[in-house]
Amino acid sequence: MTNRVENVDVCVIGAGHAGCEAALACARKGLETVIFTVNIESIALMPCNPNIGGTSKGHLVRELDALGGEMGKNIDRTFIQSKMLNTSKGPAVFSLRAQADKAEYSKSMRMVLQNQDHLTIKQAEVTQILSTVNDEGKRIITGVRINTGIEYLCKAVILCTGTYLKARCLCGESITHTGPNGLQAANSLTDSLLDLGIRIRRFKTGTPARLDGKTIDFTKMEEQKGDERIVPFSFSTDPEMIQKDQISCYLTYTNEETHNIINNNLGRSPLYSGVIEGTGPRYCPSIEDKVVKFAEKNKHQVFLEPEGISTNEWYVGGMSSSLPEDVQILMYRSVPGLEKCNIVRNAYAIEYDCIDATQLYPSLEFREIGGLFSAGQFNGSSGYEEAAAQGLVAGINAAESILKEDYLVLDRSDAYIGVLIDDLVTKETTEPYRMMTSRAEYRLLLRQDNADLRLRKYGYEHGLVSRSEYDYVIYKEEAIKKEVERLKSISVGANKEIQEFLASKGSSSLKTAASLAELICRPELSYEILSPIDPSRENILSEDILEQVNINIKYEGYMKRQLKQVEQFKKMEHKKIPESLDYNNIQSLRKEARQKLIIHKPVSVGQASRISGVSPADISVLLIYIESMKKSDER
Ligand SMILES: Cc1cc2nc3c(=O)[nH]c(=O)nc-3n(C[C@H](O)[C@H](O)[C@H](O)COP(=O)(O)OP(=O)(O)OC[C@H]3O[C@@H](n4cnc5c(N)ncnc54)[C@H](O)[C@@H]3O)c2cc1C
Repeated sequence: MTNRVENVDVCVIGAGHAGCEAALACARKGLETVIFTVNIESIALMPCNPNIGGTSKGHLVRELDALGGEMGKNIDRTFIQSKMLNTSKGPAVFSLRAQADKAEYSKSMRMVLQNQDHLTIKQAEVTQILSTVNDEGKRIITGVRINTGIEYLCKAVILCTGTYLKARCLCGESITHTGPNGLQAANSLTDSLLDLGIRIRRFKTGTPARLDGKTIDFTKMEEQKGDERIVPFSFSTDPEMIQKDQISCYLTYTNEETHNIINNNLGRSPLYSGVIEGTGPRYCPSIEDKVVKFAEKNKHQVFLEPEGISTNEWYVGGMSSSLPEDVQILMYRSVPGLEKCNIVRNAYAIEYDCIDATQLYPSLEFREIGGLFSAGQFNGSSGYEEAAAQGLVAGINAAESILKEDYLVLDRSDAYIGVLIDDLVTKETTEPYRMMTSRAEYRLLLRQDNADLRLRKYGYEHGLVSRSEYDYVIYKEEAIKKEVERLKSISVGANKEIQEFLASKGSSSLKTAASLAELICRPELSYEILSPIDPSRENILSEDILEQVNINIKYEGYMKRQLKQVEQFKKMEHKKIPESLDYNNIQSLRKEARQKLIIHKPVSVGQASRISGVSPADISVLLIYIESMKKSDER
């Protein structure tokens, strides 16, 4: 009787948003992959907000799609409302957000996994990581053991355990040792990770109640409709195929009464009574935190979001909580429109084990354990999109580690995914990390609309994007360049016809001749508006190309400036730090900097410069030392 499974290349622990992308990436690169989950019904489960995308998170989904990931396509198949956010601002912060039918989203992703060659789904709890020490004295992965004792021998393991490790859920005084939605927690793996010397910490997050839709009075709320023209998340989705009727969300507000109920019961909140040990996300605060920390505010926004077509549950966005049920009922019923609401599922907080991701390389492989990768909430991030983006990168790199190919490492000037991973593996995050546009220095270049132009080539090089998808991007780049040059080369005179046209568009008259490109730079004008005075415009360009032509012309100056900054940034990123460098030999390095550099082992001078406690002076010392090492090697 054998208790071993041998012919496996990669084991993915977790079928959440990170695990699904990781497993699909490995299987699509032809590797025999097994994906484990404690409960098969929790594949791509959305235990919190019923939407994908939003500010900066929409960028992550577009980038993941451009690289060959699945989330973008899956939400295009299962959305019930779609909206482009921040359209009153510049294109750098335009972000798509789609409300998902949660049950359909999970079902659709499960179908994709089930139909994927080289991929096996296994419902089981992984209880141990198997490893050995190789001839060079490095610990490397050899497999995993599951709760039944069966061992899966493999060459790489990807940890995507999310909010399940030693999870406990808190709703007032009620504490249950389960994962989200009452699913089984995974209580054994943490000890195995500690045995491997991995540093573990405890984080927390929370979710609001789900209310019965037939007990909500939507007439007392502001309806929030989706966009007329729906824009897909995936570059592979035909926009014409997804135009459909949508379900609205609704906006209401808390009030003094709500805040009083909360303030009067703070002592019964595990968050304020000290029962909760884990650290929560600053940018996804519970309603208790909002009322305490922003006491001057007399109301907070509350968004009622549908959980799906075949359910009557409504998600109360903005009111996550861990207060006891009896207080929750009073609290929610104090909100206009919810006076008679019934709670279907209570709000609760969840605590879980996760890691300090500075133990990882930018490839998401553990520095000290070869073949062990990690992604998602377990890395200290928060959000479906952040998890999925890391899952894809970890999946690609686990596969490349077996195929002996170059890793995919995106830097801060390539993608939001590069910013996300660099922040996690370089900077000490002390709370669940949520992506925001303000975290990206080069956000005018890292827009959600040009993710394909920036990243398709990497997806193609790593075998997840087809030749035809890549060819389209090459054609698109060429078409954009040609059209921008054409618009710069055509000038119109300050004649009567042009002046009348400009006046009709509310645009000021010309003093001298100007190129069409110069006119497009005027906020009130655009490529489309100028078509009557642009006779040589030959072919009808597609929406996506038009969008790029307009943006490249209107923001050319800003983009050129940012490209200059990127040049400087890349210089430091490309200054690699030799693995053999011993920081103890650099006398003039400050003590704190030496300690931090020894722990973090940055791969480049650029990464070293972002470690807190390492000053610009330390970086100059390091640069000089690396130069001297090079000279002595050349001798
Ligand atoms: C209550 C709650 C509130 C949240 N609130 C927010 C929020 O406000 N904002 C926000 O951005 N995000 C929030 N999230 C987080 C969001 O759900 C996660 O970011 C996202 O689901 C993370 O995806 P993941 O793939 O990393 O992990 P998960 O989706 O948690 O999936 C983990 C997977 O690992 C499996 N697993 C774990 N351990 C084992 C094991 N030992 N063996 C086998 N399988 C295992 C599980 O079965 C599951 O399939 C919340 C999550 C919860 C639970």
